Amino acid sequence: MRSTSPRLYLRLLLAATLPLILVTSTLFPVLDMHMETRLDGVRDEAKGILRVGEEALVREINETLNYALAIAEMPTLQQRLEGNLPVGEGAVSSRDPTQLSVFLNAFINHTPRYSKLVLIDNEGNEMLRAPQDTDAEPHLGRHNHAHTDYFKGASKLFPRDIYLSPPGRNLQYEMASGEAIPVVNVATPIFNSQRERKGVVLLSLNWQHLTQSLYQSMQVNPQAKVLLVDAQGGWLLTRGTHQLPDLSFGDDYANAAPDPWSLLSGTLEGDIRLDDRMLYFQTEDVRTKFYNSLAGRIFSTGDTLPWVMGVTLPTPSWRSLLKEETSVLWFLGLLYVTAVAFGVYWAFSSHQQHKLRQNAQQQAAEVRSLYEGAPCGYHSLNADGIVIKMNRTERRWLGFDADEVVGQLRYRDVISPDTQDAFDVAFAQVVAGQPGEAECTLLTRHGDQRHVVIQASGYRRHGRFIYSRATVFDLTERKQLEEKLLAQAMTDPLTGVFNRRYLQSQATNEISRGLRSNTPLSLITIDIDHFKRINDEYGHDAGDEVLKRLTTVVSGLLRQEDLLCRVGGEEFAILLPNTAISQAEQIAERIRTTIDTHEVTIEHEGDHQTLHITASFGVTHVELNETTLKAALKRADKGLYEAKETGRNRIVVSH
Ligand code: GH3
Ligand code: MG
Ligand code: MG
Repeated sequence: MRSTSPRLYLRLLLAATLPLILVTSTLFPVLDMHMETRLDGVRDEAKGILRVGEEALVREINETLNYALAIAEMPTLQQRLEGNLPVGEGAVSSRDPTQLSVFLNAFINHTPRYSKLVLIDNEGNEMLRAPQDTDAEPHLGRHNHAHTDYFKGASKLFPRDIYLSPPGRNLQYEMASGEAIPVVNVATPIFNSQRERKGVVLLSLNWQHLTQSLYQSMQVNPQAKVLLVDAQGGWLLTRGTHQLPDLSFGDDYANAAPDPWSLLSGTLEGDIRLDDRMLYFQTEDVRTKFYNSLAGRIFSTGDTLPWVMGVTLPTPSWRSLLKEETSVLWFLGLLYVTAVAFGVYWAFSSHQQHKLRQNAQQQAAEVRSLYEGAPCGYHSLNADGIVIKMNRTERRWLGFDADEVVGQLRYRDVISPDTQDAFDVAFAQVVAGQPGEAECTLLTRHGDQRHVVIQASGYRRHGRFIYSRATVFDLTERKQLEEKLLAQAMTDPLTGVFNRRYLQSQATNEISRGLRSNTPLSLITIDIDHFKRINDEYGHDAGDEVLKRLTTVVSGLLRQEDLLCRVGGEEFAILLPNTAISQAEQIAERIRTTIDTHEVTIEHEGDHQTLHITASFGVTHVELNETTLKAALKRADKGLYEAKETGRNRIVVSH
């Protein structure tokens, strides 16, 4: 558990973070698109506001041009210049200049868009001015406009051409008075009916008035801020911008905001992101605008045009976007929570699966180990009898490696020819769907034989035989065990010679063999004399020892085919195949003398005691028409009894 915990924690961490990454990476582009759409909206709105502002600007300038041209074409004005009579010098004619003066004064006073109108002759002398100065036109005659940009510009123009000065170039004397309001000077030449150049008319557009009407027209969105800059980066408005609220007319915007300016000055139209605002701008060249007027060409000094006109609007922030799109937030949260829930479920279930897999693997390994190392053989054969699987035990029996049997060995080939039929029958039975069993002899690679019983059943799928599964038990070991048990059952545990049961079972064989070969069969019975005394004198263990020693001695005197058995406590019998009774008597005599002369040394109470043992013998023949030893034993015992009765340590032959 301790080793699997970090893996679980890692999975839980993955379950929590992966959905976050996935959900964010999926939804971010959607929100980003949303944001882009909103920005497009802001851009469109800014564009719209800018268009309105541009229309206002063009309208203002257009009307000014029209007025300037209309005034330039007034015959009285031309006459006034032709008469070349400065007003105020008392010259009164039918074309009373004062009337003209009154008219122009009234025009200027009632048209706040214009701050002044000046009539200038060919030499630059100021011939008429509206509004009139209160102190009886003290400027008249004293002012010469010959060196001004508008006079120089307009005096070379053709009829209906117009000179437009940059904003703010006020007259010197206006500047001197200290109360000058910025103006744009519009000047156009005056010609008489003979097409003779007579002078110039100057109409000053009140720039403040113009910017005011710009502000008014562009204030559709109260958050909109207007920008108007000349080609040199000079600020052309009376109020500042959003970022630079202190800017006022004539300030150096290019210097105050170098970054936006570098973009503004290099592009004709576009948008810039300024912190939390978007600035939409376009270049405005008032000379090339199509004016709905009678004007011919428009000239300017050229260094301040074109202007850049722009509007800034606040852009939506991510926070405001999410605030407005709460449904998106909910969706996002729900999606994330669901994904995390699934992730946690996955982490736990895969953790569980991992544990189960480990258990399954462990169990599979155990099963495999049991399969491979079982004390019996296991194998599987395909329908052709080829080995597809065989456990280590059976491979060891046969003496093959795994790669030598799997897919290679035909199992029938390791079965001895005499048991192949039994195998074939059983295998056919298994293929047919029945369990099969056969006792076979396996021929090992080393030339040994191994007796086995094969028990098999078939694995079938959709009623078709796929392969057989067989268990192979080694009968050699079982047989050896059985023989061992049998031998144990037939042997006397104390002396190691056969017991009475064996004598009786073997007797039948020996009788029939004697009958077949027509050879005699004899029987000797032996009873140790006064054996009870040995037990009484030296103890039961000493008695046992004597029994063992005497057995060894007697065994040494017999042939291999002779059968020595212990038939009672201190009684023995010897079945002697192919032995006539006279030979048996001789053998008995040899045994008797050997025992009689043999000294048996035993340990008794720390001392070595030498015992003299004797035995009595009964000898008889076994009739070959008898089926058991019963009668022969009776006869031999009769002889034995007689031997005892007649003094012991002797042999009595009974016929
Ligand atoms: P005899 O045959 O000469 O007439 O005298 P005996 O003392 O041998 O007579 P008996 O047949 O009555 O006694 C046999 C004794 O053998 C009785 C028993 O104590 C002893 N005996 C029998 N089986 C065993 C045995 O396995 N071990 C020992 N130590 N003694 C045994
Ligand atoms: Mg006895
Ligand atoms: Mg005895």
